[in-house]
Amino acid sequence: MSDVIHLSNDIGNCELNLNTDNKRIQLIDHDSVISNLPLMKLSSYFKQLGWEVGFYSEINPDAISVHVDNPSLIIRSSVFNKPLIKTNLSGTQIIDICSSTDFGIWLNDEIEHIRPDYSLYPKNDYSIGYTSRGCIRRCPFCVVPKKEGNPVRQWSDITEFHNTEHKKIILMDNNFFASPKWLENIKYIYINRLELCITQGIDARILTEEMCQWLGRIKKHIWNYTFTSHMLSTAWDLYEFKDQVVRGLTLLREHLSPANIMVYVLVSYNTTIEQDLDRVMTLHNLGYKPYVMVYNVSSGGGTPLTKALSAWCNNKQLLNSCTFVEYLKETDAKLVSQVEKPKVTLGKWF
Ligand code: SF4
Repeated sequence: MSDVIHLSNDIGNCELNLNTDNKRIQLIDHDSVISNLPLMKLSSYFKQLGWEVGFYSEINPDAISVHVDNPSLIIRSSVFNKPLIKTNLSGTQIIDICSSTDFGIWLNDEIEHIRPDYSLYPKNDYSIGYTSRGCIRRCPFCVVPKKEGNPVRQWSDITEFHNTEHKKIILMDNNFFASPKWLENIKYIYINRLELCITQGIDARILTEEMCQWLGRIKKHIWNYTFTSHMLSTAWDLYEFKDQVVRGLTLLREHLSPANIMVYVLVSYNTTIEQDLDRVMTLHNLGYKPYVMVYNVSSGGGTPLTKALSAWCNNKQLLNSCTFVEYLKETDAKLVSQVEKPKVTLGKWF
């Protein structure tokens, strides 16, 4: 164990000096809605070093609330994409660790591979971690290849972060089935009858019969991240992968009900409205739940037409009861002329 630890994210890095007699640290979870993984690892690490560790969350009522007096170090984690900020105030080092997600922070190996301190969130009954990092793809709109690298690499065995008292597990792998150890991981989940959430979903393009069979075996144990509904997700973001996506999803629905699978459809990025509608209707006709995501909508992205597409598609009742053109006629008729008759056949939808 060294006197200096290094923290870094995709924007910056900093060093923490642990050479002090005042071995008190305050950890603060600014805004995580689920257990904050880096803070749980830091808590374990500092407790191993013999430090007094305080922890509280500014928003999460499931967290403990322990304040330490006069800490020499304060580490606060928030989810927004900012540099690491280090401030020194009256002998206290204050570090803000921020990344595009709380999980984007890179920790020293000795901290990264420590078992998280789940006691910080006593009401959360799940374990959480990565079995792999990176992704085999380079989707141009995605930060993962830049931040985590390409291709996928093995990161941790599940046993490294699974608390055996937990029957639930959240895996944050970016491309679970691209992991070199996907089979070992899914067998572990199956044998231990764990309730599973794969937060980033799966990549339909690489699905094999064997992968689908394994998903079928654990289908009753697959959940969304709140463990409130049986839901797995995947995406069809780039139109040119149509053949691979349709092949994978056709295979998958032999083993899992497509009604329990959300397929994200990115629009207003590089596709035409005809391609958007083709994706939505192809997925709908296969029995899947298409969910239109407008690119950069929170920063002003999207057009009135793609926003209308999202409003129509993401409302199951509307999707099942009327065509997109019928919906436009009722809501914003001037947009109808922008929906040209597509070259592909979309059945009754036009
Ligand atoms: S497959 Fe997903 S994680 Fe991988 S680069 Fe594409 S969007 Fe990112």
